[in-house]
Amino acid sequence: MSSSRPVLFLVSADSGCVRVDAEAPHVSVMDLGVTRGDGIFETISVCGGRAQALEPHLDRFVRSARLLDLPDPDLDLYRQAVFAAIDAHDDVAELYIKTVMTRGVEGAGVPTGWVYAAEAADFAGARTEGIRVVTLDRGLRHDVAQTSPWLLQGAKTLSYAVNRAALREAERRDADDVIFTSSDGFVLEGPTSNVILRRGDTLVTPRTDQGILPGTTQASVFEFAQAKGMKTEYAVVPIAELSSADALWLVSSVRQAVPINRLDGVERSIDVEFTARMTAYLLGRRD
Ligand code: PLP
Repeated sequence: MSSSRPVLFLVSADSGCVRVDAEAPHVSVMDLGVTRGDGIFETISVCGGRAQALEPHLDRFVRSARLLDLPDPDLDLYRQAVFAAIDAHDDVAELYIKTVMTRGVEGAGVPTGWVYAAEAADFAGARTEGIRVVTLDRGLRHDVAQTSPWLLQGAKTLSYAVNRAALREAERRDADDVIFTSSDGFVLEGPTSNVILRRGDTLVTPRTDQGILPGTTQASVFEFAQAKGMKTEYAVVPIAELSSADALWLVSSVRQAVPINRLDGVERSIDVEFTARMTAYLLGRRD
């Protein structure tokens, strides 16, 4: 449990960006974000006082808004709130920021927005020792984003109850996390992460047109790999390629990169040295 206090800013077209007490209530019980999970969010890592991949996160915030037919978030205001929240928070090693925009109070037609900063959990153990993962069928084909765009696969919406249920299923199966697969046999993403496989000197991640989130951390890992002379590839990955890969990671903001040390009950070796270099690169990002 962290001892530092979260910092909250409300964001609205009328009032701009206003600091309020993070421990007092601010959202109406009639807000569609609360009653229907109808809204969008981003979670952004802050290391050394700097928001990581801020612009890619804000671009994805806008992309999610458009997928949900919400108005574009006012990025100047959100950016201002992110910087102000970081400034106002106690100086701790790792923070996270959430930017949220809902469809607003039912009938009002005005989005509700806020940004908060809070101390990040300690992921040092997972980053070095790895995690146990199970594959779970998401029950959708890999081309769902093309065939049924109204399912909003690939948008970062507030409707994460399914993602949380998958994590509880992982726990029932004696695992820490999940890799979703498509009903037609391809690797997708985790409930809060992207999947990266290493095949020799190539890093591979599932192509982002398969109803998955284009990850900011995954993009940074690819930059790191390319700078090291490795090849990188976006691919349609059959499930069998998970067990034949030389190494596997789940990557996401805040947690950064965690190696997978057991997949569907089968132990896997982890690439300790490469993971350590990748983690150092990710934690060292200052924009
Ligand atoms: N996929 C899903 C479903 C996620 O929720 C997340 C992050 O929370 C990611 C992928 C990874 O995205 P990022 O690296 O930008 O945090």
